[in-house]
Amino acid sequence: MKKSISRVYIGLGSNLNNPAKQLETAIATLAKLPDCELISHSSFYSSRPVGPQDQPDFVNAAAQLNTRLYPEKLLEALQLIESEQGRIKKRHWGERSIDLDILLFDSLVIDTPNLTVPHKEISNRDFVLKPLLELNPTLTLPNGTNLQALLQSCPDNQLHLYSGHS
Ligand code: ATP
Ligand code: CA
Ligand code: CA
Repeated sequence: MKKSISRVYIGLGSNLNNPAKQLETAIATLAKLPDCELISHSSFYSSRPVGPQDQPDFVNAAAQLNTRLYPEKLLEALQLIESEQGRIKKRHWGERSIDLDILLFDSLVIDTPNLTVPHKEISNRDFVLKPLLELNPTLTLPNGTNLQALLQSCPDNQLHLYSGHS
């Protein structure tokens, strides 16, 4: 018997090699993943980097996926997409062609060496919270905390809608 369907939110980010195109490519690949159904994706946003400041601005978005994959398998699938799109680790929180993070996985709480869900930085990132709330304004963390409330107290990363994407 297959695992039941889970509702998952993925965070996407890029600041190298035509970032908006990188996000579009990743979204198209997510839509074709086995045992997954892409439900929707947010608008594209632009934000200042949270890590080293001597790197280009990021383009960010979130996607909602229904999946029968287990969390670890989904992480593997995301990491394969990252490497197929030429992601090379340069420095912590540095520039990258594509970054795919599991933000929420149903209302699961996961804390293993490879995987922390909800994503550990979710509360500190407007470029994650805003696209998530666009997809679902009533989203909460597994502990019941409202994402809307988290956005109010989130540091400002000069987030705005990315103008190069229609
Ligand atoms: P951050 O996690 O702060 O957004 P990052 O995305 O730059 O930073 P990466 O270098 O992409 O970090 O990932 C480092 C490791 O984080 C991965 O190898 C993965 O095992 C682990 N990881 C833990 N939780 C998650 C998650 N929810 N989604 C994706 N990767 C995760
Ligand atoms: Ca990340
Ligand atoms: Ca990541």
